[in-house]
Amino acid sequence: MTDTYRHKGLRKRLVDALRRRGITDEAVLAAINAVPRHFFLDKAFEEHAYEDKPFPIGNEQTISQPYTVAYMTALLEVKRGDRILEIGTGSGYQAAILAAMGARVFTVERQEALYLHTKELLAQLGMTGVRSFFKDGTKGLPDYAPYNGIIVTAGAPVVPDALREQLAVGGLLVIPVGEDVQYMYRIERISQTEYREQMLDAFRFVPFLEGVQRKT
Ligand code: SAH
Repeated sequence: MTDTYRHKGLRKRLVDALRRRGITDEAVLAAINAVPRHFFLDKAFEEHAYEDKPFPIGNEQTISQPYTVAYMTALLEVKRGDRILEIGTGSGYQAAILAAMGARVFTVERQEALYLHTKELLAQLGMTGVRSFFKDGTKGLPDYAPYNGIIVTAGAPVVPDALREQLAVGGLLVIPVGEDVQYMYRIERISQTEYREQMLDAFRFVPFLEGVQRKT
C-alpha cells in the first residue's frame, strides 16, 4: 500500500471540504489529513476514497462518511492518552483516526470476517494503538473499562446501559440513536450516578445488532 502525493493532495481537499461543512476541530482535521483513507477501502473504490461519501466494505457494512467520522470524533473531545472504546470496527478507519490523535483504542466488531480482516490490516499499518476484539458491543467491553470516551458507529434503537456504566466520570459517550433515522446523542457522565444528555443532528447508520456473526 502506498500513499502518493496525489493521495495527499486529495486528502487536503477533503479536509478543506470538511471545514466548509462546519468541522472546526483542528486536531480532528489533522488526523483526517494524516490517515490514508484509501487503505481502508476496497481497491475498486480507491479512486473515490477522498470523496465525502460512505462506501461498502463487504458483509453489508459501510465505512462511514468522512463528515460523520469528523463530527463524531469532535464530539468525543479526544486527548492524548485517552482510553477510547469504539463499537463497530468495520473498516478500521474510525479507529485509525482515534489512534492518530494519540488515543489508546479498544475496538469491538460483531462480524468475525470483518474483525479478522481489519485486525490484520491495522497490524500491517503498524497501528499499535488499536486493540481489536470480536464481541457483541451491546455489552461494551467491561474488562478494560472505564473509558474516557465511547463511540458507537452503528444506529442503536436504545442506549445500552452497559455503555453508560463503562464511562469514567467526566467521560463522553457518542451514539446515534433511532430506528430509521438516528439522532446523534452525546452523553456525559458527570458523577457516579448522574449523566447529562444532548440530542444533536440526524444521520443514517447501519443497524446496531445483538449477538455475534461467525465467519462462514
Ligand atoms: N467505524 C466503522 C464503521 C463501520 S459500520 C468504520 O470506520 O469503517 C458499523 C459496524 O458496526 C459494522 O461493521 C457492524 O458489523 C458493526 N456492529 C453492529 N452492531 C454491533 C455490535 N453490537 N457490536 C459490535 N459491532 C457491531
